[in-house]
Amino acid sequence: MNFDFNENQTMFRDMVRDFARQEIAPIAHEMDVKGEMPDSLVQKMRDQGFFGLSFPEQYGGLGVDTITYALVVEELARISAGVCIMVTVHNSVGLYPVSMFGSEETKQEYLPRMAAGEIAAFCVSEAGAGSDAASLQATARKEGQEYILDGSKMWVTNGTRAAFFVVLARTPGGEGHRGIHAFLVPRDSDGLSVAKKEDKMGLRASDTCVIDFDGVRVPAKNRLGEEGDGFRIGMTALDGGRIGVSFQALGIGRACLEAAVKYGLVREQFGKPIARQPVIGNMIADMGTELDAARLLGYRAAWLKDQGRKYTREAAMAKVFATEAAGRAADAAVQIHGGYGYVKEYDVERYYRDVRVTRIYEGTSEIQRLVIARELLRELG
Ligand SMILES: Cc1cc2nc3c(=O)[nH]c(=O)nc-3n(C[C@H](O)[C@H](O)[C@H](O)COP(=O)(O)OP(=O)(O)OC[C@H]3O[C@@H](n4cnc5c(N)ncnc54)[C@H](O)[C@@H]3O)c2cc1C
Repeated sequence: MNFDFNENQTMFRDMVRDFARQEIAPIAHEMDVKGEMPDSLVQKMRDQGFFGLSFPEQYGGLGVDTITYALVVEELARISAGVCIMVTVHNSVGLYPVSMFGSEETKQEYLPRMAAGEIAAFCVSEAGAGSDAASLQATARKEGQEYILDGSKMWVTNGTRAAFFVVLARTPGGEGHRGIHAFLVPRDSDGLSVAKKEDKMGLRASDTCVIDFDGVRVPAKNRLGEEGDGFRIGMTALDGGRIGVSFQALGIGRACLEAAVKYGLVREQFGKPIARQPVIGNMIADMGTELDAARLLGYRAAWLKDQGRKYTREAAMAKVFATEAAGRAADAAVQIHGGYGYVKEYDVERYYRDVRVTRIYEGTSEIQRLVIARELLRELG
């Protein structure tokens, strides 16, 4: 077993760390307050190749392995989780279904554009279909060589920016996970519109939208996989996405730990830095230990993915542990800052809000535990 990163992994991590410090950190607070991300930053990220990270070089991507991807995600989230989620949704649940399940023609046509920074979004959730994604109601009616999409998708990350939407919809009248198909839908399709942009608690730099599909015509060649493969495609993409969310949470958690240590060493009460008080020291020790344990779970899931092995259980374990550990770290960081942790002048206030959603999206903690239990019962029962 080798715990060292290779040269390529270290190089990417350092490159992203520098970029995040120089280009994102100075505006992270402002993006949170305004609830928006400047196009100029997105363009700089395009220029750096952030949108082609994890898919094949033959289609214009950088083809990095999942460990490298995890390092990149952690560095971005450490500075701005809102910027990070734009990149991770694009690279994982946005691109992965196309690169894994698209026809060669679809890949040739769209992947180079996506790698160059035409952003992708993932449309599964609906008002009535969240954890139970198989209950989705959006329909795809086949007419000749086209499908006609109708329905409304909620919580679409990158909704206002995306050039492409991966959409799950079912044959009218169908039920359950059978009869669900996946499509790649260009933004300029007639009948596709942004119905609402959500006003969120955290990740405010990122846009989360309701997207309406009103008689949207999609060529049959834009279907990903075979008819009825949609649910499997969505769930496979989410397995990978969960590794990304684990490292997103870890990035926020690390920012919390660093802020807590820094503040704890300068803030003096009772004649000495509060970090030197054993109770605060214990909090810092727990933060560091839990985040490291979570990181190892995440690396294992990433490594399994790179080996082409099954990693559903390991990704779920990493996600539930990392997001909950990061949540505890954010809580401790605010506590260590005392009243100063409760105001926007200090970044821990933002981290506390940003980290909360990592326990909700791409499968809630409760759903991760269902997945883990199902896998363990199957293996050990
Ligand atoms: C900021 C943000 C961005 C998002 N981005 C996207 C995106 O890009 N694309 C997309 O498709 N979706 C996206 N989502 C949606 C997200 O994946 C869902 O919110 C999530 O899956 C939970 O669904 P829900 O909100 O409908 O909650 P529900 O499924 O209604 O769950 C409510 C509560 O019930 C619990 N629960 C449900 N079923 C069970 C069960 N069987 N056992 C125990 N507990 C259960 C849940 O764990 C949760 O605590 C995003 C959400 C947010 C907030």
